[in-house]
Amino acid sequence: MKVLITGGAGFIGSHVADAYVAAGDEVIVVDNLSAGRREYVPAAARFYEVDIRSDALREVMDRERPDVVGHHAAQASVSVSVQHPQLDAEVNVVGTINVLALCAEFGVRRVVLASTGGAIYGEPQGTLPVDETHPIHPLAPYGISKYVGELYLRYFSAGGPSAAVLRYANVYGPRQDPRGEAGVVAIFAQAMLEGRAPVVFGDGTQTRDFVYVEDVARANLLASRSEASETANIATGIETSVNDIYRELGRLTGYSGPPQHAPVRKGDVYRIALDPARARKWLDWTPQISLDEGLRRTVGWFTRQDMSPV
Ligand code: NAD
Repeated sequence: MKVLITGGAGFIGSHVADAYVAAGDEVIVVDNLSAGRREYVPAAARFYEVDIRSDALREVMDRERPDVVGHHAAQASVSVSVQHPQLDAEVNVVGTINVLALCAEFGVRRVVLASTGGAIYGEPQGTLPVDETHPIHPLAPYGISKYVGELYLRYFSAGGPSAAVLRYANVYGPRQDPRGEAGVVAIFAQAMLEGRAPVVFGDGTQTRDFVYVEDVARANLLASRSEASETANIATGIETSVNDIYRELGRLTGYSGPPQHAPVRKGDVYRIALDPARARKWLDWTPQISLDEGLRRTVGWFTRQDMSPV
């Protein structure tokens, strides 16, 4: 199978590319390297440094004619979306339309879309974990633009590619950028390894659903093999507080200092966990890596990195 991955030089997309390569698929990566890194693209993949909004994407699609497109390229930061909602929509809406229209034009059989559960349901109504029927109430432009991407995929899949929508929880693991404003595990791990006090927004009792990146990559592979047009959370269903993450990373890194505190950020939900039952039924997918194990692997990876600023 020939798979084209947009955003395949980024944190999650590069693990997805690794998973397809390991499964014996032919892999093509498109990324403008605005956040991703060339060295994260697997050696076995063909790489195009191309912006998903540009006409150059048409040439790539025409030349490669992939069977499956995994769409991961995005402006992926909630806080950047709050500060620059137009930029967010240019990449996540206009860029996504360009990708999907070309998929329909060039006969792509299936699209696997990286969406978000953490940012589209808003503050949960009723009990946790939240399933896919929960009302959509994004608190930030990022959640709006990602949901609009889902709606465009539904539109372009009529008579076009079948559609798999994966709504990720908070993904963590090796290669997550600790210099961004999202990705609490990466940010805390790097700060602690450098002996700096991490910043906790609010009192740290806010909760998230942390899913390990290799589990997410496996969900992508399974979704590409299915024919069903379906939407599912990719999550653990477990709530973990930021304070718990802080404590566990402190133990793993040997950092024992207290955090700095800063005000809660606009656009962040207080509590969230996503129900993975539909992914289990549809894809026979359940997360395999426990939080303890995932954090251990992540700290191990950050420890091996050259921490000098780039
Ligand atoms: P990331 O920033 O590491 O990856 C995004 C990649 O897209 C980067 O390599 C970047 O260079 C590339 N990109 C950005 N704009 C582009 C453009 N205009 N043209 C071509 N390439 C472009 O972020 P990530 O965390 O790996 O996120 C990957 C996907 O998963 C995104 O769609 C994001 O919305 C989604 N997601 C992430 C999480 C999470 O917890 N990290 C949660 C839910 C959903």
